[in-house]
Amino acid sequence: MDELGIVSSIDDLKGFVREIQDFPKKGINFKDITPLLANPKAFAFSIDSLVNKYLNENIDYVVCIEARGFVIGSALAYRLGAGVILIRKPGKLPYECSSLNYDLEYGSATLEIHKDALKKGDRVIVADDVLATGGTALATIDLVKGFGANVADTVFLAELSFLNGRDKLKPYTINSLMKFDY
Ligand code: AMP
Repeated sequence: MDELGIVSSIDDLKGFVREIQDFPKKGINFKDITPLLANPKAFAFSIDSLVNKYLNENIDYVVCIEARGFVIGSALAYRLGAGVILIRKPGKLPYECSSLNYDLEYGSATLEIHKDALKKGDRVIVADDVLATGGTALATIDLVKGFGANVADTVFLAELSFLNGRDKLKPYTINSLMKFDY
């Protein structure tokens, strides 16, 4: 074993997720994936494990959700020979955008995508770091569907099972590496 350690199982990988209590607000147990990203073996294991499912799936684009989804999604896209499409918060994308407002637990939020980002029949996967309530991923799926593109799968490093995001995303399927029930 070298100084980076061995990463050969999901349990090993979970050791690279740091829990931050009460961030960004009281009552949230935030799953900080930056230690996982910083470890070359943990990051490679994550991307290799997630990408296998799509190697023969003819994915055109990975649609990546700001901001940690950019990291996961672009690594997957590179391995798949697919393009990267960015979903961003309002005012960040420079060209004309399609926007979608959606409800959060408290309040609402807006996501944007360039209006020429996709076309009818494109086959995409949607990527983010963590699936929590599923609201953000569902809004992203709705933006993608607005182009007539097809969502082949949604992919996450971690899924917070107790928040039931999986139910919210039905009938879309979910590929998540680590499940947390706390
Ligand atoms: P969601 O509730 O699924 O719409 O999650 C909204 C966004 O916040 C997603 O992009 C997640 O990455 C992030 N997020 C929500 N809850 C957590 C958490 N407990 N730990 C880390 N990231 C979170």
